[in-house]
Amino acid sequence: MKYKDPEMTEIIETNCLSIEDNKAIQWIEDHKEDVVGFLQELIQIPSVNPWFNPKEGESREAEVQGVIRKRMEGMGAEVKQWEPSAEALAKYAGRPGYYADHKFEGRPNQAAVLKGTGGGKSLLLTGHVDVVPAASGWTMEPFKGERLDGAVYGRGAVDMKGGIAAMVMALEAVVKSGYQLKGDVIVGTVVDEEAGGMGTLDFVDKGYRADACILTESTDMKIAPLCRGILWGKLVITGRSGHIELPQGDWREGGAVDAIGLARVFMDHFDRLNADWHVRKVHPYLPLPCQVYIAQINAGEYPTAFANQAELVFNAQYLPREKDENGLGSRVKAEIEAFVASVAQTEEWLRENPPKIEWLIDADCGETPVSDPFVQEMENSINKIRENSAIEGIGFHTDMGWFVNVGIPTVNFGPGTPRVAHQNDESLEEQELIDAVKTIALTIINWCGVSDN
Ligand SMILES: [Zn+2]
Repeated sequence: MKYKDPEMTEIIETNCLSIEDNKAIQWIEDHKEDVVGFLQELIQIPSVNPWFNPKEGESREAEVQGVIRKRMEGMGAEVKQWEPSAEALAKYAGRPGYYADHKFEGRPNQAAVLKGTGGGKSLLLTGHVDVVPAASGWTMEPFKGERLDGAVYGRGAVDMKGGIAAMVMALEAVVKSGYQLKGDVIVGTVVDEEAGGMGTLDFVDKGYRADACILTESTDMKIAPLCRGILWGKLVITGRSGHIELPQGDWREGGAVDAIGLARVFMDHFDRLNADWHVRKVHPYLPLPCQVYIAQINAGEYPTAFANQAELVFNAQYLPREKDENGLGSRVKAEIEAFVASVAQTEEWLRENPPKIEWLIDADCGETPVSDPFVQEMENSINKIRENSAIEGIGFHTDMGWFVNVGIPTVNFGPGTPRVAHQNDESLEEQELIDAVKTIALTIINWCGVSDN
């Protein structure tokens, strides 16, 4: 069929088969229970990242890999498993996803390669098998994969065992319905995303490459060719304590300086900065501009003293076009530091006692241009499955950065509402899961190509 990109004038030929006689779509219709059952099976193996100190027996990433392995071997894929090593990755110090103290004993990464017959484009399907803990307050069992009113409940239903189930079952549908793929498909499942993304760094370091990649984090079924970078910082403002109920006099003569009052000055100025970023730091495929939001305020010690110190913990986001040569947010950090320094110039006390920023987190980002043929192929596929599909970037971090860094056009695409990730009673609509399986199956067939048989 012919496909016309709204942003381009040329017409692009694709080798798309008509949806009515697509055997894979029919297979998925006939095997909906298997698809849902596979998601339940994944949820029923708790795989909480050990960084969160999970309860005994709740950190079984290796077992999840084993279940995926069995499924992939059943399709004829060759599967390799290995444990990442911080030592072997030390050359990445100062780059995204590297943490010298992360341990991987009993926590394997996995690559399942399904060889094509040759002459087609290759595709990497990837996601993380670790989840965050199930905190208290669930009304459903977090590790049972219960079904209720057309949804599957459990930790990881959305983030991201739903996405893993979708990509594995999509490939199974293609294989079991009899298509012979020309290009290779790699199913890469990694550990340790929820504590920084070192599993993906290791996977890329091992040399796995493809002509395109789908990272199946939940995107509300939108095609998300970019994610933002995230900075956490702590602005520490120093004051001088003194009795609140007594006259203090000038600070130059020993009087108190209220750190809370100074924090308010910075908060007002951050509003000004955000008004500026609201105009400058926008992206046509992101619903929100980048902003600096205060997430926590820590100040003061007891009710009769002016605050000696105030801390503003903030979250700032940055765009892929702002990342530095290491793939991180040092330019945006420098911009925020210069802004804070300029505000400090407006007060004599602050000039003499300049506030400091401690940087806590820098999570990287990535972007694939919407004009990339793979983004168009994905759009082409989803338009056959759902109405009102959209291309929209995601505001939070995913592991896509490293795939983009090594030159693989990558999109995030997966079932489920990202908002319910990490929430109690996390759940995924079964229909959305089925639609994701179909969309990915069509993308595999059309991107990798099929031999006549
Ligand atoms: Zn995730």
